[in-house]
Amino acid sequence: MLKTPVAALAAFLTLCGGVTATFAATPAGPERTAAAVPASGPQDAEALASRHIVVDTHIDLPLKLYLEPSELAREEKSGEFDYGRAREGHLDVAFMSIYTSAAQAVRGESFAAANELIDLVEALAAEFPERYAIARTVADVRGNFGTGRISLPLGMENGSPLAGELDNVGKFYERGIRYITLAHSKANALSDSSYDSDRPWAGLSDFGVAVVKEMNRLGMMVDVSHLSDDAFYDVLEVSSAPVIASHSSARHFTPGFERNMSDEMIRALAANGGVIMINFGSMFLTTAANDYSAARSDTREEFMLARPDGDADALASEFDELYAQLHGPFPFADLNDVLDHIDHVTSLVGVDYVGLGSDFDGVGDALPVGLKDVSDFPNLVAGLIRRGYSEEDIAKILGENLLRVWAQVEAIAGRTD
Ligand SMILES: [Zn+2]
Repeated sequence: MLKTPVAALAAFLTLCGGVTATFAATPAGPERTAAAVPASGPQDAEALASRHIVVDTHIDLPLKLYLEPSELAREEKSGEFDYGRAREGHLDVAFMSIYTSAAQAVRGESFAAANELIDLVEALAAEFPERYAIARTVADVRGNFGTGRISLPLGMENGSPLAGELDNVGKFYERGIRYITLAHSKANALSDSSYDSDRPWAGLSDFGVAVVKEMNRLGMMVDVSHLSDDAFYDVLEVSSAPVIASHSSARHFTPGFERNMSDEMIRALAANGGVIMINFGSMFLTTAANDYSAARSDTREEFMLARPDGDADALASEFDELYAQLHGPFPFADLNDVLDHIDHVTSLVGVDYVGLGSDFDGVGDALPVGLKDVSDFPNLVAGLIRRGYSEEDIAKILGENLLRVWAQVEAIAGRTD
């Protein structure tokens, strides 16, 4: 269980690390089908977003539901996702992150904690059946889109809840988990992690290899976000199906930040037929935010550890204020930076291998100007139109690329319906 929510939140707040707003002139758009696209206004973006399935592969709502259940019951606007704003943003498919920490794994709590978070998402869908449905298949997603309900598929962030037992892959499949991010902030029984200098497996462990094969067999997407580079290449070697990076951006813009994907990795991912879902966190987008965030996280961790009994939220904002006084304000990225990452991937491998994995409710106060919550997706669509993407290309980026991969994963497992 999440017995120590304060500690969990502290860990959570520091898990993704930290960036620059450059309102530089927008680079020229992709050279694809720009000519057919008229100059767009906000209404075009709204209409386009409403016509197509918008998928976000990483929203950290479940832990928030655990920490603040009363907010859910009252349906108060809080955090970056709720029904009203999701509808405003035309978000149709919100993958719920079933996240457990490395610390929970050490305490042997991950299996139970993951199940508890799944319970909370099921409770949300059961409480509002006219609004939400847990989607288990691509067909479910398309069906829910037709009836106006938001699909809530489940993605497991960190393979530790498998507790070293291959049978648990099937148990979580039955509970609705459709992707597993093999590791998180630390190396685990499956894989090395990009955030952990300790690399016990030099990639995937034997158990990790077996899990990837079992996921292929069952029809679950393998998620390579958070993995070390070596583990990523191991996954590509082992997986018989395309894989996803559920919330990673392009390392081209954040050199040395292993949590993002290098150009070589993006090419390999595309060759495998997979998709990189761009993370909106400012620290994933620009070097300035990344540097600021990394330095602040290190110092914050010490500050929080020295005050184990304090209110984590209050302490974190107190700390961030102090830090900003000393080091200047956090250099937020902006919408153009997200568009630059999408352009970069399309310039490398084409438009079929990129999508959106916001990390809403997962990166603290680090979201870019213009993309602060789930209501802001039309801003992104307007940006894509401005940069010359055709409607067909935008539909791919918004959701069809991810749905293609998911459908292939289903097909390889023999689960076509
Ligand atoms: Zn993450």
